[in-house]
Amino acid sequence: MTSPRRTGPGSADKARDIEENPPPQQDALPGVVVRAYGKFFTVKLADGRELLSTIRGVLKRHRRGTDLVAVGDKVFVRDVGEGEGRIEAIAPRTRTLSRLARHTDDVEQVILANPDQALFLFAVRDPEPHLRLLDRFLVMAESRNLPARIGVNKMDLDGGAADGERSLARSLFGRYEEIYPVYYVSAKTGQGIESLRQTLDGKITAVAGPSGVGKSSLLNVLDPTRDRAVGTISAATGKGRHTTTATVLHQIPGEGQTFVADTPGIRALALQGVDANELDQYFPEMRPFLGQCRYADCSHLSEPGCAVQSAVDAGEIKRERYESYASLRRGDLLDES
Ligand code: GDP
Ligand code: ZN
Repeated sequence: MTSPRRTGPGSADKARDIEENPPPQQDALPGVVVRAYGKFFTVKLADGRELLSTIRGVLKRHRRGTDLVAVGDKVFVRDVGEGEGRIEAIAPRTRTLSRLARHTDDVEQVILANPDQALFLFAVRDPEPHLRLLDRFLVMAESRNLPARIGVNKMDLDGGAADGERSLARSLFGRYEEIYPVYYVSAKTGQGIESLRQTLDGKITAVAGPSGVGKSSLLNVLDPTRDRAVGTISAATGKGRHTTTATVLHQIPGEGQTFVADTPGIRALALQGVDANELDQYFPEMRPFLGQCRYADCSHLSEPGCAVQSAVDAGEIKRERYESYASLRRGDLLDES
């Protein structure tokens, strides 16, 4: 890679300046890292162009203990020609979705930088929704202070439920509506897509869900201009032979810069770092009752005088959610089925 421009006189000072006060940099363009391949990063510019970029040498000394640049990072990149770029500065991260790198206890591996929210996508059927997995995703989001939204796709396949409820989707996901925004959509018919689009607008959204629920299909609907083969994401990230945890950001049309991140790594994240004693706080509907139990260290499993169990009996906390709590609390925190 050759640089057509020099930084000119005072470049050493300038370099220091870049490190300490990132951007705006002359000639450096703001962009977002949408893909990472080892030392190379694809940076998406505001005008839609992508530059395959490396990191400027002087930046490499910084941010030890974490990935220097990760998908989702807002960077300033210099266009060095031929579709290539050099990352000159990295904006501080507002938030990071990360896990500890293998064999370390202090090096984080970033799954996604700067996520604004998470969307957990399930299908009303085919595959049958695994709500314990959804509850685990929600605990993960709560423990990381990441606002969570729930998407229920394949609403065109919705039908009656065994309990007499007219909508199977609502009999399964209705219990979440008081706690989280729930979007009932169909990538096939377009139902509910506009309101989902509004919630994604201008944000970076981490999307996770089992394979086959329609993540790729939904992306295609959100960005009809792009020809993305259905099934490619699941083929690339599904469990088994092709397992990968690479995050990819997809830009979709919207106000400002709207990105949807396919984050298979979230699954492996599990409930890493979630302390059993804090678990109750990550069920928002339990929060009003915490501190009202007879014992201060109540686990809400079997103690007498438990305000949480009373709330479950009174129907103020949904029993299925409580059972998810109880199963996690009993020690399934690391179970990742
Ligand atoms: P992914 O693994 O989550 O990326 O799921 P895909 O987008 O590959 O979709 C899996 C299967 O579900 C494909 O056969 C899609 O055609 C189908 N599918 C996706 N969305 C819908 C939907 O809204 N309704 C119906 N009936 N099928 C859908
Ligand atoms: Zn209790």
